[in-house]
Amino acid sequence: MKGLIFDIKRYAVHDGPGIRTTVFFKGCPLSCWWCHNPEGIRKEPEEVITVQKMEGKDFPVRETVGRWMTVGELMREINRERVFMEESDGGVTLSGGEPLWQGDFLEDLLLACKREGYHTAVDTTGHTSRKNLRKILELTDLFLYDVKHMDEAEHLKYTGVSNRQILENLTFLAAEGKDLYIRIPVIPGINDGEENTEKTLRFLKGLNGAVKEVDLLPYHALAAHKYEKFGMEYRMAGVPEPGEKEMEKLKVRYEKAGFRVKIGG
Ligand code: SF4
Repeated sequence: MKGLIFDIKRYAVHDGPGIRTTVFFKGCPLSCWWCHNPEGIRKEPEEVITVQKMEGKDFPVRETVGRWMTVGELMREINRERVFMEESDGGVTLSGGEPLWQGDFLEDLLLACKREGYHTAVDTTGHTSRKNLRKILELTDLFLYDVKHMDEAEHLKYTGVSNRQILENLTFLAAEGKDLYIRIPVIPGINDGEENTEKTLRFLKGLNGAVKEVDLLPYHALAAHKYEKFGMEYRMAGVPEPGEKEMEKLKVRYEKAGFRVKIGG
């Protein structure tokens, strides 16, 4: 069996505790307006043209984004960084896209990571079947779990899917006693209003202490140029990036509710 992977990030320090190796699975059932990894959305390898500069001139270069890899190939890559991960109490994070969209391959890779003794984290949208989630429950030490909007209609509008299954799965993971880092993209005018913040806080407080950290991820427009490259529509034109003061205010709000909070993960 092979998995479709679009990137491997070494020495990652924002994807869970310690220094980590993060593997990015290609393919996501959501299509968030603000996605900064549009290259991770389609579940197939993609040919794109990038422009490289050489001696002041532009040269178009064809590249393939997404590579089918075996668990063995990935483990060889991961094991190269073993010493950094072990000495920093880090580990391996499986991200995307949505890693659970390649559920069987994800399970095999987690099994291999566990055999090697690594701490494992899965960064997920939570938009998956309960059966899929159960398969990786015991193999996953930490879930990095996205909470994008509490209103179902708004969630559907901005991500393409309902939030119902996502919130039910989050409640399930908390009830199973799993450790959770909640990842909240902060998008001005879309999910940073009073009502949504209040509902999010109330929901997270109801998860019985399973939330070990809240990561507030400020929206940025750095990925805008990628959309054209991948032939996708960029729908965030005119949406401002949140200011430092607004982010700090939000952080204090979550801290007062009793959460450990980081800006930027
Ligand atoms: S869930 Fe993540 S990877 Fe998928 S579209 Fe949304 S932001 Fe992009």
